[in-house]
Amino acid sequence: MSINQSGWRPESPQTGVEASADTFTGNRALMLEEPLIFEMDERGGTGVDFAEAPKVSSRLGSLERNRDIDLPGLSEPQTVRHYTRLSRQNYAIDLGLFPLGSCTMKHNPRLNERMARLPGFADIHPLQPVDTVQGALKLIADLGEWLIKLTGMHSVAMSPKAGAHGELCGLLAIRSALEARGDKREVVLVPESAHGTNPATAAFAGYRVENIPATERGRVDLAALKARLGPDVAAVMITNPNTCGLFEPDMIEISKAVHEAGALVYCDGANFNAIVGRVRPGDLGIDAMHINLHKTFSTPHGGGGPGSGPVVFSEALTPFAPLPFVEKQGDHYALIEEETAEEHHGRTFGRMTAFHGQMGMFTRALSYILSHGADGLRQVAEDAVLNANYVLRALEDVLDAPFGKSGPCMHEALFSDKGFEGGLSTLDLAKALIDEGFHPMTMYFPLVVHGAMLIEPTETESKAALDQFIGAIRNVAERAKAGDPSLKAAPVHAPRRRLDETLAARKPVLVYKEPEQAQAAE
Ligand SMILES: *Cc1c(COP(=O)(O)O)cnc(C)c1O
Repeated sequence: MSINQSGWRPESPQTGVEASADTFTGNRALMLEEPLIFEMDERGGTGVDFAEAPKVSSRLGSLERNRDIDLPGLSEPQTVRHYTRLSRQNYAIDLGLFPLGSCTMKHNPRLNERMARLPGFADIHPLQPVDTVQGALKLIADLGEWLIKLTGMHSVAMSPKAGAHGELCGLLAIRSALEARGDKREVVLVPESAHGTNPATAAFAGYRVENIPATERGRVDLAALKARLGPDVAAVMITNPNTCGLFEPDMIEISKAVHEAGALVYCDGANFNAIVGRVRPGDLGIDAMHINLHKTFSTPHGGGGPGSGPVVFSEALTPFAPLPFVEKQGDHYALIEEETAEEHHGRTFGRMTAFHGQMGMFTRALSYILSHGADGLRQVAEDAVLNANYVLRALEDVLDAPFGKSGPCMHEALFSDKGFEGGLSTLDLAKALIDEGFHPMTMYFPLVVHGAMLIEPTETESKAALDQFIGAIRNVAERAKAGDPSLKAAPVHAPRRRLDETLAARKPVLVYKEPEQAQAAE
């Protein structure tokens, strides 16, 4: 793309996508067309004035830069506007409903942000002497205490930095426990409906992954699981509520069978939002479970902030849990960074991170927990389930709900594109939702349902917001069932139309090349 006197040309040779041919500038109302910063470059321009550096002889040798640094030359207002325009192209939970199933995109209360910015929490350093950060350590200990109570477990590792990182933490503790009893087991069983991180984690921890089939009702096939258990199985990873949005009612029996076979139970707790305050995973025989603070406890995620995935452990696994941990000793909070008594962390597998975890997220999550209280957290789960069932029942006459007949769902409603005509599919419905101003739902996951659409409204949406969303989906679904070919063209109102998403994922262009270079490379 090149600059001409009057503005940007309305199409971009970079993407080959037509932007907006119907305005002179390429802008769409106040949604301004934005090129890459390199394409705006006015060589030689600069937003800052530096004094000429004194001449010194260079000692960089062969490391000396021998060509221009190639930063775009723009003034400060040009640069500020560029990034402000880009920021307006984000879709965010603060803009509208974000129905991504399995992601729990709930509102992030501003009170949490206020607390996280208190200088006593925001401005401390992980290497500060512990006497100077007693308040922060107390906060970590208090949050850990809540997580242990809410899950009915024995101990907690606060340091893992995301759900997937927590899965790895749990499996490493399980592996250490098995090795400590001289038991080398090689297989981890994972249900077909599991999130992709589960098999990836098991493989990363050195295990062979085998699938357990699902029943027609979207639950783990208990008989198939029992039949597969044996002396080579180290652990079973189960998500509960599962990724079909359903509670696994056989969980106690599953745990019993797994333990009798000498293996351990890992629970993927990403969906804890649906049961917090109602069910304690510890009562279901679970040995380790991660909690996504960025899902259940409302800390920002999806580009808005880092994750945090504390892991709770059963008594049997506690000696193997990672360091460090915070311990209250009288009036003092100690940060334990070395192996201690046998039954505590005496056989720890090591560390997950250099320091203590995501302090900013701990502050936000504890602020969320304290502002809700125990009764408020129970209501979070109840309202999340109520909202999902409202969506399920409001759409099941226009969208196929594969498990809708078998009763209520938990926190998310699962649909499929069965019954769409004219070659239309889940993707077309999702793209048409963009035109209606909604971020699409999770698509094509879980894999056990063909053309899956997984909708998780969360408890923070009002009935009015849900009704508007339901109205939009009903409209698009009816067009899809009538085979309306115009859906194939959606989105038509977005700054970009349909992109080649496969190409973008397989061959991402991460480094800017001048158009001549890009052409030469082809
Ligand atoms: C989100 C999620 C994960 C992974 O959590 P991250 O924090 O994104 O690493 C794992 N399992 C399920 C079911 C999830 O929804």
